[in-house]
Amino acid sequence: MRNAIPFNRPPFTGNEQQYVLQAMGSEKISGDGPFGKRCQQWFDRQLQCARTLLTPSCTHALEMAALLIDIQPGDEVIMPSYTFVSTANAFALRGAKIVFVDVRPDTMNLNEQLIESAITARTRAIVPVHYAGVACEMDAIMALANRHGLYVIEDAAQAIQAFYRGAAVGTHGHLSAISFHDTKNITSGGEGGLLVINDQEFADRAEVIREKGTNRSQFFRGAVDKYSWVDIGSSYLPSELQAAYLWGQLEYVDRIISDRLRAWHAYSEALRPLAERDCIQLPTIPAECDHNAHMFYVKVKDLNERGELITYLKEHDIQAAFHYVPLHSAVAGRDHGRFHGEDRYTTVESERLLRLPLYFGMSELAIERVTDEVSNFYGV
Ligand SMILES: *Cc1c(COP(=O)(O)O)cnc(C)c1O
Repeated sequence: MRNAIPFNRPPFTGNEQQYVLQAMGSEKISGDGPFGKRCQQWFDRQLQCARTLLTPSCTHALEMAALLIDIQPGDEVIMPSYTFVSTANAFALRGAKIVFVDVRPDTMNLNEQLIESAITARTRAIVPVHYAGVACEMDAIMALANRHGLYVIEDAAQAIQAFYRGAAVGTHGHLSAISFHDTKNITSGGEGGLLVINDQEFADRAEVIREKGTNRSQFFRGAVDKYSWVDIGSSYLPSELQAAYLWGQLEYVDRIISDRLRAWHAYSEALRPLAERDCIQLPTIPAECDHNAHMFYVKVKDLNERGELITYLKEHDIQAAFHYVPLHSAVAGRDHGRFHGEDRYTTVESERLLRLPLYFGMSELAIERVTDEVSNFYGV
């Protein structure tokens, strides 16, 4: 029997074990140990931002962002409905109303031209989500936010080492959140995240919020002689073991992403004939975006055809996956949010989208098997 092709396989470089064992032997296995500091310094250099802080997940980094901009009950936060629940939960947890705006059909990103009409006196923030590691139109979004005095929190969960007009994604907004979950391009042992602080005004308070509302970080730097409770906060530090695992991946991040790009381009080439016959649509990458091959998706005719294609691929031992059910149509989405304007693309485009298997080290043969079966499905 042929091997099944999984949808995802967590990346593994071979150095993770050695670093995790080294951390285990160091007797410093809680957060912000040597590996944690090494990872943060790597990101500080890479992103050229005010500060980066490792978190237990991207979800937690988004929650920290909501705390940092002091979201209050009744505040409104604008985001796409086509996203993961954490984007909305982070703000709903502070009592905000979520205002969903339609996506662009080409990138599935927040339509920057529809944001302004959704702004009210209660609007506090815009949360662009860089779907599939393809950047939103950050120039337009930042200009709009500055004009209206709003914060921009980037959900860059999928966007590590992606670029917009040559600058790293995650460095345009006031704050950004990146994920190291095992479904993302690199992982810190299954779960993990990063808060990116671009605005210096948030740096000190972010450290306090992350250390349970204490000034423990200042204490360790010798800036205060004892630490105490100075603000609200929670436990937003990942353990040193997670940081050690992440370091084993960071060292190889360029190799991991160029390998994913190779797979992405192989898909794109092999499926072009199907796109030319209008059987499927291939993803669009705007000229100003350098993506990180987080995902390869196709769009089929409709929900029904997608179901048939998933079943067909499954029968041929290939695991393909649909993605988000738009949040505004979910139970909690109706309670905590509203859709502003017309849902012209969010629902119909999300129903057509199918993600194909893509992981670090995916063989040419496996890619060919997937593209052959997709072609067979369409009789091409
Ligand atoms: C994966 C993901 C998250 C959540 O990341 P975790 O690290 O699992 O908390 C949030 N937003 C988007 C868009 C994601 O893809």
